[in-house]
Amino acid sequence: MFTTHEKSIVALAAPSTARHDDDAMLTITNPATGKLITQVPTDDAESVATKVARARAAQPGWAATPLSERKATIQRFADHLVQNQRALAETLTSEVGKPIKQALGEIGAVGQRIAFFLDHVEQALAVQQVFDDGAMREQITREPLGVIANISAWNYPYFVGSNVFIPALLTGNCVLYKPSEHATLTGLAITQALHAAGVPQDVFTCVVGAGDVGAALLAQRLDGVYFTGSYATGVKINQAAAPKLARVQLELGGKDPAYVCADADAHTSALGLADGAFYNTGQSCCSVERIYVHRDKYDVFMQSFVTEVKGFVVGDPMSDATYIGPLTRAQQLDVLRDQVQDAIDKGATLLLGGKRIGGRDPRNPAGDGYYFEPTVLTNVNHSMKLMRDESFGPIIGIQRVDSDDEALTLMNDTDYGLTAAVYTKSRDTAERLLAQLNSGSVYWNCCDRVSPRLPWTGRKHSGIGSTLSLEGLRAFTQPKAWHLRSA
Ligand code: NAD
Repeated sequence: MFTTHEKSIVALAAPSTARHDDDAMLTITNPATGKLITQVPTDDAESVATKVARARAAQPGWAATPLSERKATIQRFADHLVQNQRALAETLTSEVGKPIKQALGEIGAVGQRIAFFLDHVEQALAVQQVFDDGAMREQITREPLGVIANISAWNYPYFVGSNVFIPALLTGNCVLYKPSEHATLTGLAITQALHAAGVPQDVFTCVVGAGDVGAALLAQRLDGVYFTGSYATGVKINQAAAPKLARVQLELGGKDPAYVCADADAHTSALGLADGAFYNTGQSCCSVERIYVHRDKYDVFMQSFVTEVKGFVVGDPMSDATYIGPLTRAQQLDVLRDQVQDAIDKGATLLLGGKRIGGRDPRNPAGDGYYFEPTVLTNVNHSMKLMRDESFGPIIGIQRVDSDDEALTLMNDTDYGLTAAVYTKSRDTAERLLAQLNSGSVYWNCCDRVSPRLPWTGRKHSGIGSTLSLEGLRAFTQPKAWHLRSA
């Protein structure tokens, strides 16, 4: 499958890539079929160095461009996404396997994030007068960092990409953007759209390739490194960036818990949490990955939850009816299989799913897709990988608890700290529990939610730094302290 839109994007890759090794090609595969979509020329160390040098030369001019012009350019980019939503969504679905409705939803919703940044960039950059006694005045201004790298993930390429490159561009930085090797066509489409909107070629440059190309980018002089991806890669990024003493932000994985209290509406919370666990085929950084249910609500909750998950339509991600598509990466099938086996070996009960969907199953349209059954396990505990390691797939462990305190202890018993949710009718209970959770985001009667108005930030192995909100605009600037004596 190779659409007209994809052909035009792939054509873009070649001239924008000043490469020398003609053999270096990135293979792009459709995870729903396991079949080749296309190959794209990758960057190498030399072409990356050229791109960074060009970005550095272009950056002062971009920073000097009036903010009103930079904003107008980003608005044109947002308009382009709306006008081309269907073609962009089909490209995203073809290479990532994201169900088409969810791909359309992501591209549609990115406009709200862009609108937030456009509405608040003046406020973020405003001069702050902090002292004036007539003789001495003190003020703070904000200047761009310079040239930054944005090394990105595949699971929400529009969301996680625009969390970085939109505020970075608005605040006057140049961006070297390396999309994930699993979302390269989408990364090229984003690049094409930004250039069409008027962002100069050297101000926003796409770097094509896998981890080795990301490493080559990190070998360059950079003023900031903004990474979205796994904890394991985040550690490598942090190590590689350390000698630069540049700003480093890491948006990493999670093992996000949710707790259903004794007074919660068990049915409603089951529906909300099933969606929170399985949306995007469970491949969200803030997917619900562990559920604790108070014993008073356990039976009702389990019945509603399992019924809801059984109703999820698994199949061809290009179909409007599909809610669960293939995994994006074939190797994750082994991770899920291992987590299921480990849990069963240690006493868990498998209520639903538990294995790869094979070639003869009608849910696997082409037979070679990377499909895994929606899987629910209970009688789980924290000795199991399922309850400790990020799953990143359509699989959930549900544990019965006796008290709020037990739930709280279990929720905080993790290396990660991205989000945590509590379901209860009582606001007091919610606030008491949420205050004690060591997570960047906390939710009352909701989950798997991101707001452009709030900082998106992880603790412990979930990352360093914040995107979104005013903090996520200032994250791409450096303050200058002015001491002004009038005479
Ligand atoms: P990944 O760590 O495998 O790859 C992320 C990026 O790093 C890719 O572009 C990859 O090519 C690049 N890379 C790999 N090795 C590198 C190296 N040595 N040097 C430089 N770059 C290198 O992650 P992924 O599979 O793309 O994404 C899934 C992970 O991302 C999950 O853990 C998920 O939770 C996390 N994530 C977090 C957030 C968040 O906001 N916290 C959002 C989305 C995804």
